[in-house]
Amino acid sequence: MAPRSNCSLTYRFGTWRKKRAISSGYSSANCSSRSTRRKRIYGLSTGLAVVSEIAERVLPEQEVAEPMFRLLLLTAREIERRGEWQLPLAYFAYWTLKLGGWMPPLDRCVSCGKRFGDAQAFQSALFDRLHCGDCRKVGMKPISAAGREFGAKFSAKLDEISVTPEAIVPLVELRETVLNWIELHTERKLFTREMLETN
Ligand SMILES: [Zn+2]
Repeated sequence: MAPRSNCSLTYRFGTWRKKRAISSGYSSANCSSRSTRRKRIYGLSTGLAVVSEIAERVLPEQEVAEPMFRLLLLTAREIERRGEWQLPLAYFAYWTLKLGGWMPPLDRCVSCGKRFGDAQAFQSALFDRLHCGDCRKVGMKPISAAGREFGAKFSAKLDEISVTPEAIVPLVELRETVLNWIELHTERKLFTREMLETN
């Protein structure tokens, strides 16, 4: 099941890139709009590259390959439909962790059990759960209450979720937390993750 899913993934992304390249080449003679379009396509391929790498890491090891594959196709479709990857990628990473059975409680400290409430929690790629301000370890990064609340928001269908410009920072906090935990559980760095910092 898993290898076949991977083949389909490669095929789909290959087809998608080809389609975008063709439409990019023929749709306009205007240089500036072509440049904007090129930039947009490059931006979209960044999100898809991270999604693709996560899927390749996780799919072969999971018994739940079919739900994971459906999530993958939904995410790729939403990135193209929305013309942006911030929300779909965060949703994809969150559900990858959940389908893998790796999602910890997001409301309390693993060390002392204290509930975070509206306070910041702290995370890193070295611990698979959240810590409170008193128990945080060196090098941990904060995740706000608004970032953690995306966990509840992501129980809705992806195409019904929207994100305001002000919510991008908390969304990125959640994404970075979840990507750290995916790296921790798969015991490997995500190489494409560096691309997110420049897009
Ligand atoms: Zn604590």
